[in-house]
Amino acid sequence: MKIKSRTKVKEALTTGKLDREITVKGWVRTRRGNKNIAFIALNDGSTINNIQIVADVPDFPEDLLRQVTTGASIAVTGVLAPSQGKGQNVEIRAQSIELYGAADPLIYPLQKKGHSLEFLREIAHLRPRTNTFGAILRLRHAMSYAIHKYFNDNGFYYLHTPIITGSDAEGAGEMFRVTTLDMTNPPKTPDGKIDFGKDFFGRETNLTVSGQLEGELGALALSEVYTFGPTFRAENSNTPRHLAEFWMIEPEMAFYDITDNMDLAEDFLKYIVVYVLEHCEDDLEFLNNMYDKELLQRLNQVISTDFVRTTYTEAIDILNSSGVKFEFPTHWGSDLQSEHERYIVEKHYKKPVMITDYPKKIKAFYMKQNDDGKTVRALDVLFPRIGEIVGGSQREEDLQKLENRISELNIPREELWWYLDTRRFGTAPHAGFGLGFERMMLFITGMSNIRDVIPFPRSPNNAAF
Ligand code: ATP
Ligand code: MN
Repeated sequence: MKIKSRTKVKEALTTGKLDREITVKGWVRTRRGNKNIAFIALNDGSTINNIQIVADVPDFPEDLLRQVTTGASIAVTGVLAPSQGKGQNVEIRAQSIELYGAADPLIYPLQKKGHSLEFLREIAHLRPRTNTFGAILRLRHAMSYAIHKYFNDNGFYYLHTPIITGSDAEGAGEMFRVTTLDMTNPPKTPDGKIDFGKDFFGRETNLTVSGQLEGELGALALSEVYTFGPTFRAENSNTPRHLAEFWMIEPEMAFYDITDNMDLAEDFLKYIVVYVLEHCEDDLEFLNNMYDKELLQRLNQVISTDFVRTTYTEAIDILNSSGVKFEFPTHWGSDLQSEHERYIVEKHYKKPVMITDYPKKIKAFYMKQNDDGKTVRALDVLFPRIGEIVGGSQREEDLQKLENRISELNIPREELWWYLDTRRFGTAPHAGFGLGFERMMLFITGMSNIRDVIPFPRSPNNAAF
């Protein structure tokens, strides 16, 4: 479908026919020139590149051109012509200009100078109009599309798991409560506690931290499913890699063991990288030049190398014999912190690493127990610059073992009756993992703060916009 009244800037720049009259619409990035001629750089978000508009000043009302300043929205009709100036192949010789909305240069916050990412976070409502965020938002789109395409092409079904959940047994993180009770005067039970029986759902509810448990229900019927939705964690950690609201992709597959799970994770992650390298060249090149000179090299390296496959025990040995003094010392049984993950990926192996067989004590109840009685078939994928990008496991399909683990951990079994039913009726080996979409965005864009790869970040003390 093509809107007849408008040619997109991308199209004009790449496939536009010369000497034809076209109309482009967008926002002014810059205007320069003199009293005879004006050069306007116009962008409509279809590409990182601007189209140059050339206007003979005497041909236009003075009052109109005065308002064509950075940030203004205009429509321009004119002839597409080869450009004499350098920096572009084509330009539009303006015949008419219509002003949709001016942007007062005295108060419009996005002047042409480069702004700091911190400042842009404060004006997240306008930052999509910058080159940087235009590139990031186009990449977010391309990656989302690639993810759906990958799973669709491989016979997975997109499963919609609930956002509001009555189960708090997932254990993936602190949850946000969902309630319609009057917080200033909540109903109380006889023993003085808040009576959630009177709440909207007749019980306590929260925002989901993961769609996995429901994903398993889908996989044990449709064989291969995936979720792709928002997840919420009341993480009090103010880090550049954690958001309170982030998007997660969670494939879940019946009849997969831990090796199949690793094969899928590696193939899937590489596919996303290949897809953006093939489809988002301009945006990646921009980010490479502006923010991270090694970005393209890193992306190309990831797709051309086999990911390392190792175990937690091996990783601990590497860390213990590294001679490095970490902030958190390691021993068998301790969780891997970001500093450890990054040492293993960036210093030791220098490529993506998949670590399996973690101590059961530091992993969730549903992970398949190994015969050693100490470890579970967990899988973490670690990426350079990011650390953990994927967390997953083969799941425990044995009802008895799962129930034992649930009682050991004092998890209320009643709340999981529906989950346990899958092990009671037609249980099967299965596995899955979760990819944090914004962590992958960090890797793909070379940005260093996760707040800069989502349109409107939510983090402690920040829910603006
Ligand atoms: P971390 O140890 O980094 O906090 P996690 O072990 O809590 O991660 P999982 O519960 O395994 O992570 O979640 C799966 C994936 O979701 C992670 O590998 C990561 O990519 C992503 N993720 C987890 N927490 C966050 C968060 N707060 N913000 C953004 N992405 C996250
Ligand atoms: Mn976490």
